[in-house]
Amino acid sequence: MNETKIDQAVAKRRTFAIISHPDAGKTTITEQLLLFGGVVREAGTVKARKSGNYAKSDWMEIEKKRGISVTSSVMQFDYQGKRINILDTPGHEDFSEDTYRTLMAVDSAVMVIDSAKGIEPQTKKLFQICKMRGIPIFTFMNKLDRDGREPLDLVNELEEVLGIDAYPMNWPIGMGKGLQGLYDRYNQRVVLYRKDAQGNQYLPLDAEGKLSDKYPLTEDSAYQDAEGDMELLSEAGNSFDEAKILSGDLTPVFFGSALANFGVKTFLDSYLKYAPAPAAHVDQAEEKIEPDDPEFSGFIFKIQANMNPNHRDRIAFVRICSGEFDRGMDVTLHRTGKVIRLSNSTQFMADARHTVEKAVAGDIVGLYDTGNFQIGDTIYSGKHDVQFEKLPQFTPELFVHVAAKNVMKQKSFHKGIQQLVQEGAVQLYTNYNTGDYILGAVGQLQFEVFQFRMLNEYHSEVVMEPMGKKIARWIDPEQLDERMSSSRNLLVKDRMDQPLFLFENEFAERWFKGKYPKIKLTAKL
Ligand code: GDP
Repeated sequence: MNETKIDQAVAKRRTFAIISHPDAGKTTITEQLLLFGGVVREAGTVKARKSGNYAKSDWMEIEKKRGISVTSSVMQFDYQGKRINILDTPGHEDFSEDTYRTLMAVDSAVMVIDSAKGIEPQTKKLFQICKMRGIPIFTFMNKLDRDGREPLDLVNELEEVLGIDAYPMNWPIGMGKGLQGLYDRYNQRVVLYRKDAQGNQYLPLDAEGKLSDKYPLTEDSAYQDAEGDMELLSEAGNSFDEAKILSGDLTPVFFGSALANFGVKTFLDSYLKYAPAPAAHVDQAEEKIEPDDPEFSGFIFKIQANMNPNHRDRIAFVRICSGEFDRGMDVTLHRTGKVIRLSNSTQFMADARHTVEKAVAGDIVGLYDTGNFQIGDTIYSGKHDVQFEKLPQFTPELFVHVAAKNVMKQKSFHKGIQQLVQEGAVQLYTNYNTGDYILGAVGQLQFEVFQFRMLNEYHSEVVMEPMGKKIARWIDPEQLDERMSSSRNLLVKDRMDQPLFLFENEFAERWFKGKYPKIKLTAKL
């Protein structure tokens, strides 16, 4: 492909993630989107995978047992001339670190909210990461077929709690059993809700944005309320502003029901109109890497081992930022300067894995990895060295001592621990004096997954002894005096041999600061 062709291909890409609190309806809406894309033919496919009946990616027994989605995958489909990449994000809060990193690889986000519950804690956290990146956020207020909160109340809460302006693109006419339809402000029509009917029925609005009174719906108090709310919003609400949508300062809000497939298509069509195609990425040398630059570049945002137990593979997920990915191409890994041939790659569809031949900026490819890659690595073709910004690290809060149960099986223990730590879900530390291993994670579930995988994938039975919550603070090696360490601030080394203290609690940290006022402690490296 030449530059123009790459440019045309990039312009078609829309790469996003769905963020939500568990149970808001992310899986259900993903499935509807896949149905529109013709990827799945039956509702229930994604759902079944989530509940564990679907054996395709059954690498995690835990996923089945707990009924939660631990892994995040990538789904690609074509719709109305666009190529859509949905990056799935694990909803469980223990896997938030994985989710945060996935959000580094998307160009926009869809926020799904349960209209009976409003903004929930996990939504808020994930929203803040998107906000920090300044990417556009589109909101879907779900479960309109159930009684929820007042729409005005939901929009107010969104603005107040998240600190973003909202522009309702449509408005519910009734709710729950009384749901009549949507007042589609953006397309100037009313969409009628028909529980059993296939397809939508539309009624046009007149020049004043109202329904003609020849329609009996105008007699309905739900319609009159919706019209009243619309008037209020037109006078006192935000105006539609595309630039503000693109900068992430205004979120278009859509109401609907993912389960009843009501309002989802309207949402998808508008989303595709306003969501951005992949843009330039700035690298660490402050240089702009344009997506149609003929040289290939990308970064690894996720590594996952053994997605398919029959193959025992490890896959590094690459977000392409420029150029064209060609199977078999040679790339340079910035961190080591090593040239690597990318001969074995895969792209993810909802139902099966396909071998990728060509992909451009915005696409995600999975590279079969034999231990070359780490999370945050940049790879590129050509002579010009590229290194993208480091991915943010999220400091672990929970710690355990870890050791091999059988001291004769140290080899598989070390191999397993090194590989799993490289995936980034758990962090490895060593006791400064004894060399004993300590693991740190954002949540308890990650330790359980680690223990399970060590046994199943590396045949290594591990014993873990909880250390509880700690506050990790790095210290400048120049300033370090080992005598500063005590039982309340354990001295350890991270994987890069950097020293840090694990403080028992905030009190211990304050006490330390009082005693050693000149020592600089940092939360993250
Ligand atoms: P996730 O945890 O965010 O992926 O949520 P799911 O998609 O699994 O949905 C959680 C529950 O809410 C499931 O029982 C869904 O059937 C239900 N649900 C999802 N969307 C809707 C909706 O629009 N209306 C109703 N009534 N239920 C819904």
